[in-house]
Amino acid sequence: MTAPAGHAEQLWSRCAGCASLLYRKRLRRNLDVCPECGEHTRLGAPERLRQLVDPGSLRLLPDRLPEADPLDFVDVLPYPHRLSAARASTGLAEAVLCGTATIGGQPTALAVMDFRFLGGSLGCAVGELITRTAERALDDRVPLILVTASGGARMQEGALSLMQMATVSQAIAALREAGLLTVSVLTDPTYGGVAASFATNTDLVLAESGARMGFAGPRVIRQVTGRALPEGFQTADFLLRHGQVDMVVQRRSLRGRLAALLAAARAGRPARAPVPRQEPARHHERLAGAVPTVPPAEADGHRPVGERPADDGPTPAVRDAWDTVRTARHPGRPTTLDYLDSVFDGFVELHGDRLGGDCPAIVGGVARLAGRHVMVIGHQKGHTTADLVARNFGMASPAGHRKALRLMRLAARLGLPVVTLVDTPGADPGISAEEQGQAAAIAENILTLTVLPTPVLAVITGEGGSGGALALAVADRVLMLQHAVYSVISPEGCAAILWPDRSAAPQAARALRLTAPDLCRLGVVDEIVPEPATAAHDDPAETARRLRAALLANLLPLLDVPPAMLVRLRRQRFRRFGAPRAGARAGAR
Ligand SMILES: [Zn+2]
Repeated sequence: MTAPAGHAEQLWSRCAGCASLLYRKRLRRNLDVCPECGEHTRLGAPERLRQLVDPGSLRLLPDRLPEADPLDFVDVLPYPHRLSAARASTGLAEAVLCGTATIGGQPTALAVMDFRFLGGSLGCAVGELITRTAERALDDRVPLILVTASGGARMQEGALSLMQMATVSQAIAALREAGLLTVSVLTDPTYGGVAASFATNTDLVLAESGARMGFAGPRVIRQVTGRALPEGFQTADFLLRHGQVDMVVQRRSLRGRLAALLAAARAGRPARAPVPRQEPARHHERLAGAVPTVPPAEADGHRPVGERPADDGPTPAVRDAWDTVRTARHPGRPTTLDYLDSVFDGFVELHGDRLGGDCPAIVGGVARLAGRHVMVIGHQKGHTTADLVARNFGMASPAGHRKALRLMRLAARLGLPVVTLVDTPGADPGISAEEQGQAAAIAENILTLTVLPTPVLAVITGEGGSGGALALAVADRVLMLQHAVYSVISPEGCAAILWPDRSAAPQAARALRLTAPDLCRLGVVDEIVPEPATAAHDDPAETARRLRAALLANLLPLLDVPPAMLVRLRRQRFRRFGAPRAGARAGAR
């Protein structure tokens, strides 16, 4: 709805659906749904909460976190300026409002996103606040409701915002394990990293009438495919037709539906003793074999991001981030199949997602690493145009993510460690990928990896592109080749949004902190694998030798750690990417 100019501004607004001029009070009485055409206006988080919960039952959780600009990100405006402007215009501290309340008398915890605040983007503070809400639900043994509205991860916080997809997902996994219901309510719009994590890996997914949800946004899909999008693409009804949501709900029915679902979950819940929730990293259990996973210096989890000392490994010569991007994309760079040939022995490829597809952009199967059996899963690009096209440039479809999921679970059942090799510009942003549930496929992989009871070792070998990379990179140890990159968005994509045009990609590459040394400093990556001479493609045999040594050095200590402890330590690893914690936790309770 847009308000007509002039004095009538406060009293009237024009419907974006049917252009009717509507009396504002009447519109609000109708829950901001146009009485003429049914258009659902976007709601801010405070109004959404008011509509959903029983009057007087809401207790907001603290939302103030220490200021964070972990990358010192500047595009045409410094990030802190954008934050201040968002706070001033919305009156909110961040893009999410969290609390506990009752709905139809049923107790629940809720996190409600607000699209008006920097497009509802998922940064460290938002991830931290939602995670705390999920932890509160676990403590109180009540269901969790997430109302999503987001353009995706917050670019200004780079790979740290990508990590929030894992952080929130593992909190949802903990609720799954405890038998507590999780529900997401998709509102318009829900895209990118939010769609590909907690918006779709909950037990139930409801879509508000008129909401659109997808992994890739319509503009990106049109740009990449050059095709017109089908009528109603990514709308709630489209999602229902394609099996991606449980129901489409009119706003006026939403509260009643949620109350009924909460009541059913409560009735069906078996009586059980409260499970103490997993303590954050400071209660690190010391176990000889576990030490390499979380070095004691970091085990308290209180070190602010950005202050992590660099790895003891080599200090690579500084080169410009944009040059590194081009090196990481070099067509001669060794691929996953090359490494399977040079680093591993006896690779037996396994195919298929068992649901109707086999994606060539993901290869996986059993192999041996220095005589030890492992499951290897990786993105496959190619060296020639024909290879690249046949492999969809290493951009996995939902079938690819589901094949990877199948192999991860198989590995856990067989007790095999998982080694992933990440080299993708991103997940497939095509029309059929959206139809087949790309967001949910990625989300399920991320969640599953946070609880997979077997060692997981990830290596970013080339391009680590956004959610598609993270779908294989939630691991006990994350290694990165010296000239690989790992980023929440491509520099070109970031430039197109935050700069006047895509030609600012080199500046964006620098601002995003996507190189191995940067990510090591931020704690996203544990170790850099040095490349020979100028780069991996100049001496693939030497690259393979170094990768093999790094894999063994990192994998062997993990093999002695009991699976339950591995999962605990992995969760601690991904729990520490929240907003700065100094003094914050006291206010969380
Ligand atoms: Zn209307």
